[in-house]
Amino acid sequence: MSTDPRTVASLLALARSLGLARLDAQLLVAHIVGRDRAWVIAHPEAVIANAELVANAMRRCAAGEPLAYLVGRKAFHGLELAVDQRVLIPRPETEILVEWALELLDGPLAGLPHARVLDLGTGSGAIALALKIARPRIDVTAIDVSEAAIEVARTNAARLGLAVTFAGGDWWHALDGANPRPQFELIVANPPYVREGDPHLASLSREPAAALVSGRDGLDALRTIVAGSSQYLSSRGWLLVEHGYDQADSVAGLMAAHGLRDIDRRVDLSGVLRCCGGRSPSSVDRL
Ligand code: GLN
Repeated sequence: MSTDPRTVASLLALARSLGLARLDAQLLVAHIVGRDRAWVIAHPEAVIANAELVANAMRRCAAGEPLAYLVGRKAFHGLELAVDQRVLIPRPETEILVEWALELLDGPLAGLPHARVLDLGTGSGAIALALKIARPRIDVTAIDVSEAAIEVARTNAARLGLAVTFAGGDWWHALDGANPRPQFELIVANPPYVREGDPHLASLSREPAAALVSGRDGLDALRTIVAGSSQYLSSRGWLLVEHGYDQADSVAGLMAAHGLRDIDRRVDLSGVLRCCGGRSPSSVDRL
């Protein structure tokens, strides 16, 4: 067997010794050599010219740098999104929010082909772009307080050829200049919802804290979003938000306190209540 440290097999052995998951190691090699994972699996003896680059990336991954940042992309709801340290890495649980939004667009909102959709705190653009590509006729606005995040989202929109309107600002303030006040049939958000000082943050330290942490109980952003939503929901409008694993009752309570109707919930892939939604307080019963 070859002992050349530049072979695929040697690099995968290095990854093993560093404690990397095999899938992550294969994906790193594939990314750096510009091949796919099947090629990596089928070519253990192949000698890689930039093996040192692969080895370095493996060491960074072992030291906690997320694979998505190392390869510069992340799959989300069938899309390949460019991601880097400026944005939260899209999570699979957020696909639940996308699925729920699509159900509403195909159900109660189906009579409105050009439904107006707002994504609050868009980050990489994941939710906004997943909705726009799935239902091209909807009219999507995406906002974020981070101009750097908006740059990432804009780049993703351009690469995917999707027309989304971006605006910068702190939650509802991003819409302050608009007169008359815009109205939306669907407002979606995956805001920061982790508590300050939460021990989970140790494993999330490479991602922007502003996208993760929201006050002492993790609910600051959700309070702002729920409180402002009724002013921006059309009479048929729905608000859907993602929240932390133990925040379902708090968020449903906030929605009820602000008059939202038909409050409903969704679980994530682990069976944890992860999303909460409700209809505009001024919703009409018959559409
Ligand atoms: N779901 C993320 C995590 O804890 C948090 C994302 C968020 O705060 N919106 O890994």
